[in-house]
Amino acid sequence: MDEKRAKLWSESVRFHGHSCPGLAIGVRIALDYKEKIGLHGCSEDEEIVAVAETDSCSIDGIQSVLSCTAGKGNLRICRRGKHVFTFFQRPGNEGLRYSWKSPKLEGLSREAKTDYFLNGPKDELYSVEPARCSPPPKADIHVSVLCALCGEPTAEPQLQIRNGQRVCHECAGEEACY
Ligand SMILES: [Zn+2]
Ligand SMILES: [Zn+2]
Repeated sequence: MDEKRAKLWSESVRFHGHSCPGLAIGVRIALDYKEKIGLHGCSEDEEIVAVAETDSCSIDGIQSVLSCTAGKGNLRICRRGKHVFTFFQRPGNEGLRYSWKSPKLEGLSREAKTDYFLNGPKDELYSVEPARCSPPPKADIHVSVLCALCGEPTAEPQLQIRNGQRVCHECAGEEACY
């Protein structure tokens, strides 16, 4: 690993809180995508949008290296239990889909696996192909309206109509979603 990559890896470990093979998956893919598109800095605002089909440790590598974050809305998590990541650049929208092959590395320690994921041969680790999905819509900013029952400000499209009143999900009796 060259110096620049090593620095991004240690920043990712700090961000994530520990070093692990899962984090290495996200970092490896993010670094390779970054090189492929010739990005030098990080993704200010919504320049790059990532769609992750997992919510494992790996997404912290994507967040740290590409600055695609949940808060900015340019990391979308679609839980499908696969280490598949699709990236789009705005504008342009030409997307790339990275699929991790999860090679069996029996007998290797966590450290050795992590190292292999970061430095092993691409072809054994993942495949790249054109995106299969379309880019997600831009993150919207909505006005907040007070829930008629609890009075808490709630983003307008999330309000439900109950007995002719606009109420939040909780006051509408819905379970929390996670
Ligand atoms: Zn981890
Ligand atoms: Zn409410």
